[in-house]
Order: sequence, then structure tokens, then C-alpha cells
Amino acid sequence: MKFIEHLGLAEKALIKEQIQNADKVLVGLGAGMALSAGLKPLPLDQRQSKENYWHFWRPYLEEQRFQQESNPVYDDLMTLLAGKDYFIIDANPDGMLYRSGVDLDRLYKVQGDLARAQCQKNCSHKVYPVRHSLQKLEQGKEKEICCPECGAPLVLNVYTDKDFCEAPYEKQKAAYFRFINSSDKERLVILEIGVGYTIPEMMRFPFEYIVQNHRNASLIRVNTLHPLCVEENKHKAICIACDAGTVLKTLVE
Ligand SMILES: [Zn+2]
Repeated sequence: MKFIEHLGLAEKALIKEQIQNADKVLVGLGAGMALSAGLKPLPLDQRQSKENYWHFWRPYLEEQRFQQESNPVYDDLMTLLAGKDYFIIDANPDGMLYRSGVDLDRLYKVQGDLARAQCQKNCSHKVYPVRHSLQKLEQGKEKEICCPECGAPLVLNVYTDKDFCEAPYEKQKAAYFRFINSSDKERLVILEIGVGYTIPEMMRFPFEYIVQNHRNASLIRVNTLHPLCVEENKHKAICIACDAGTVLKTLVE
């Protein structure tokens, strides 16, 4: 394992070479990416009353999903991936990648999207545009926003528990598996950024498994808190204990 705490010229050259030589690049983005870009953490574990729910979330939605200004950290990622056969699995439900021009066919939002609302009980596996909910509140037509099917509250279509509505992401989930499966005879680099142990079965564990079982796969892990990899993958990994934004900026400079 190559362990990097400071990104000097030699380290930068090593990482760039890995990415340049890759046939495919699989990118996994966790909360550490969003934090590095300056986004506020989403307080998804805070319970809100039905009346307060959408008022509470509105500022987060405007800032992280609906405003259009791109962020340099995400711009740098897309610059790094320019011309590569890439696929991104993003655990953040924000809109940052859209603003930086990601190819939508190459993106899987594994934990949902702040632009969508769903029934709290996921009664019908349907999603609704969040914009409509906010407009209804603004017009004062409704005090709380309810599921048109069963009357339960509408909530954000963001993963918090088993009632998450996965329907809008099925197509891209399949595309993600196709990307992995089509890489078995190619050089695959997994670039994992800011993925911790909150839900490790979504990315961190599968990535280690892929690297272990895929002859030509290697791992580049960027993580200030948990940079190390499993023993079995040490010969295939570069582990970087530096801030994601700093790493990406250095790589595209
Ligand atoms: Zn419902």
C-alpha cells in the first residue's frame, strides 16, 4: 500500500499515472466529498413535525439542489474524468455533479435526490417533484404536504431507512452493475472519495471486494479519517489521508 499524507510532485505523478492508464474509472463519493466542497451536512436524523418539515428543509434544498452555481471541487473532479470511461456512484443527494456537467448516464444517486419527494410510507413507490411541494407552501394553499395516494406526509426521497423509494434509481443501478461487469478484462481504477463507515455496505465494502477479486483493479482512496484499506488489497491501493478538494485541485493543476 502506498500511504500518502502529503501530496508532493512524486505522489501527484503516481496518482495521475494510475488514472491515465485506466480503461475505466469508477468513482465513489461519500459525505467527505460534500463537506470538502463546503456543503452543510444534512441533518437527516433530526425529526421534524409535519407542519415544519418542508420549511426546515427549504434552505438546504435551495443551496444544495436548486441553485445553479458550480463548485470548484466538483468541477475539478469532472476535469479529472474528462475523456475517461467513468461511472460515478454518489451517496450525496445534492445537485453538485449536475452543476459540473456530469453525464447523467454515468451517474447513480445511491441514496436519493433532494429534488424528489416520496410518501413517508412509500405506499405506492412513486416520487413527486419537490418544487411542487415548495410552491404549494409558498402559495399558502396547503400547510403540510401529503401523499396523494394515502394521505401520509410527503418527505424527501433520500435514504434514511427501509421505506426509501428506490424506483427512480433502478435504471442507473443496473447501469452501475453493467459498468463493473464489463470491466473484468480491463484496467479498472476505483477512486473513492470521502466514503466512511456510515453505510459501508453501499460503497466501501463492495469496492474492497471488487479490488480483491478483479485482477486488474486498483483502489485510490481519499479519506482524512479512514484512509487505510484491507490487508488483502494493500498491494493494489493508494491511500491518501488528505482533504478531497486539495487532492482534486492538485491533480488537475
Ligand atoms: Zn402514501
